[in-house]
Amino acid sequence: CVSKDTDVLLTVAPYACQRQTPLTHQNSEIIDALEKLGKAAALRGSEVRSLAFTRAASVLKSLPIRLQSADQAKNLPFCGGHCQTVIQEILEDGVCHEVEALQTNEQYQCMELLTSIFGVGVHTAERWYKDGVRKLSDLDDPNIKLTADQRAGVTHYTDLQRPVTREKADRVQHLIKNALHRFVPDLEVTMTGGFRRGKQQGHDVDFLITHPDGEALSGLLKKAVDWMDSQGLLLYHHTRVRSRVQAHRRNVPMDGHETCYAIVALPNLDTSKAGAGVGSDVTFPGARAWRAVRVDLVVTPYDEYAFALLGWTGSKHFERELRRFSWHEKNLSLNSHGLYSTEKQCSIPATSEEEIFALLGLQYVPPQYRNA
Ligand code: ATP
Ligand code: MN
Ligand code: MN
Repeated sequence: CVSKDTDVLLTVAPYACQRQTPLTHQNSEIIDALEKLGKAAALRGSEVRSLAFTRAASVLKSLPIRLQSADQAKNLPFCGGHCQTVIQEILEDGVCHEVEALQTNEQYQCMELLTSIFGVGVHTAERWYKDGVRKLSDLDDPNIKLTADQRAGVTHYTDLQRPVTREKADRVQHLIKNALHRFVPDLEVTMTGGFRRGKQQGHDVDFLITHPDGEALSGLLKKAVDWMDSQGLLLYHHTRVRSRVQAHRRNVPMDGHETCYAIVALPNLDTSKAGAGVGSDVTFPGARAWRAVRVDLVVTPYDEYAFALLGWTGSKHFERELRRFSWHEKNLSLNSHGLYSTEKQCSIPATSEEEIFALLGLQYVPPQYRNA
């Protein structure tokens, strides 16, 4: 359907996991507007409305053509009246008035700022907003209690706001592998998340760690983290031990893998400026020899690896749709530990992502087309 004809009927499969969604697309202005409205709804606590906007935006991301009229979208899944109004406004005026209004909405701006801090969700931000918090420095108030995550998030706020480039992600990978391979030389370490989907930048760098011998994984994360800490390479870390998950309870967003949420001090390439490691007391930013980067490390048993890889590659919406599809269309429960048949009460093993798609009766979608 690569016709310019505005009468052309566009069709798109209803689940994001049934479509190919590349990184770049044809309708960015409209998609940006829909995603902003989705975010605004989420920040107001309306998850259902937020999801509706996210779904509409995701559908448009998979379109191979640039929309010429709102009418063209009327047969697309999840593109109802509200979505069509947004499309029409952008096509006619170049802007969407509802989105414009957000720019001057103090609550939205403030909630966006607060939730952009590592460790701060909508709930916390809302509470702080009600307590009068409007800017980062308001969090210095001793009456406001911060968790350790949030404290680190505020301390390194400026660095963590800067996108991590692929070049930096590769250097983080080198640093992480070096730490892990010290303890288990043949450990498998894979960069997942947005970078595996071909993104050129991200808000963090995600890694999945596994080994055929379960013993090799035992205690490994702690040893590697302690080592990095001793080298001044860690600014913060929070390790969550593997929980015996209610593995196949549905709608559990968190998985139970052993996970380390870290902030790494990535040494600058140009180290001529200072010998400043984390412990050094160089205070002016220009002379700092490192930059803070958020890193997620996830350890998975070998037999769960394919599921963890699929689950940690994203995008978040693609994952949500995979799980929704599995449940509603196949009566199977999928998460990053495995695939489970509630009917037969048994797990269905798989050793590759391709196999999981096949088990679900889906055409394989390579990582670079999972940018839903
Ligand atoms: P960015 O470039 O902004 O980091 P991203 O796609 O890598 O984008 P992340 O937030 O790093 O986004 O998440 C990567 C993937 O890991 C997502 O698919 C998400 O569903 C999954 N994920 C993140 N946190 C968890 C968690 N606690 N449990 C299970 N899966 C998670
Ligand atoms: Mn990521
Ligand atoms: Mn992450």
